[in-house]
Amino acid sequence: MVRRGIVTSRSVHLTTCQNGPSRRGVPSESESWLMLAAVLRNTGDTDLDVTDTIEVNDPGPDDVIVKITHTGVCHSDVSAMNGTIPQPVPAVLGHEGAGVIEAVGDNVTEVSVGDHVIVVWSPPCGACQFCVGHKSPNLCTTVQFGSMMIPHFREGGSDVNAMAGAGTFAERTLLPKQAVVKIDDDIPLDIASLIGCGVMTGAGAALNTAKVAPGSSVIVYGAGGVGVAAIQGARIAGAAEIVAVDLNDAKLDDAKRFGATHAVTPDDVEGISAEITGGDGFDYALECIGNPITMRAAFDAVRRGGTACIVGVGRPEEMVQFSAFELFFMEKTLVGSYYGGTDVRSDFHKLLRLYKYGKLDLEGMITRRITIDEINPALEAVRRGEVIRQVIEF
Ligand code: NAD
Ligand code: ZN
Repeated sequence: MVRRGIVTSRSVHLTTCQNGPSRRGVPSESESWLMLAAVLRNTGDTDLDVTDTIEVNDPGPDDVIVKITHTGVCHSDVSAMNGTIPQPVPAVLGHEGAGVIEAVGDNVTEVSVGDHVIVVWSPPCGACQFCVGHKSPNLCTTVQFGSMMIPHFREGGSDVNAMAGAGTFAERTLLPKQAVVKIDDDIPLDIASLIGCGVMTGAGAALNTAKVAPGSSVIVYGAGGVGVAAIQGARIAGAAEIVAVDLNDAKLDDAKRFGATHAVTPDDVEGISAEITGGDGFDYALECIGNPITMRAAFDAVRRGGTACIVGVGRPEEMVQFSAFELFFMEKTLVGSYYGGTDVRSDFHKLLRLYKYGKLDLEGMITRRITIDEINPALEAVRRGEVIRQVIEF
């Protein structure tokens, strides 16, 4: 159900309604749109407020407005609600999205109105030491932190923030131009939205961060959206054995559809490790849950010299302990993975090509398609670990 209202207002970038604006830049006068959005009012709330009282702010010269057509629900949205991930409120949540460019600022030449794009929640500026010197554009904070300081939305006279500078649980959002990657028009936008967070994060953790080698053994903790993408990344990399670990039996069956050769509950990890590795441990472990206990378990599950890659996000105050002796003796690599170590400009397209040729199953990752009105039951399903990905269609 879409509830839209027209208000007369100070300035407006949207000159047409159903078909989107017809010109670039910010027209001086017209009408503005109230739109549907899901807002976190207070940290700790268990429900988002689905409201039609939010407006998107006008784009600056280097900004774009994206009409969000699809947005996935990620565990990080739940984590922003419960305070695991710090998020100033009020905020429109959502960070895994795709849609169509609806307006562009005067300096924007990289994309045009009508282009199909994936939203990037951690956009590289392309010029800083992380982007250029360290060749780690996923770690560039210049644009993202700058964008997070600027309210993307308003409600009456008050500012409303956007989660991670993205805020995709809204019919449209304001983004810096670096926060969109243009894709071909024939790529389904529901599929594309998944690339924006969970798929890039999980597949990238296996391919870019852990650099899973052909013929290796891999164990993946957590078979949600990120874990299933990590399983697929390990399969694409040519891992021989891929073990999925999840508390939820249905998830174990799911994991096998995406390339897990074995799937077990946490109690059976030791047994499967004995069977596959003779008890030495796996070459790689990917933790895709965000729990200090499973982070430690992932470290324990790898062999001497193996790699434990932490993808899940825990609370800042939670700790994981290591013996001061084992770090030297086991010579394991412990590595975090932020946004799958991605360079979004090239990696999004690589993943879409893998999808195109049937090597990356994205369609199968969509457990259900929902409307924004169904966001709260959807968040509850994420908390219960019942789903791979739910995609909101606007
Ligand atoms: P999800 O909720 O869809 O999946 C988590 C899975 O873990 C569920 O299937 C659940 O049943 C299972 N699980 C929970 N506790 C478990 C336990 N103790 N033992 C075994 N299985 C358990 O979550 P998601 O959307 O796939 O995200 C996974 C994690 O990745 C979250 O912490 C999220 O915040 C994080 N994340 C990190 C990045 C990054 O850049 N590193 C990006 C996106 C998401
Ligand atoms: Zn996410």
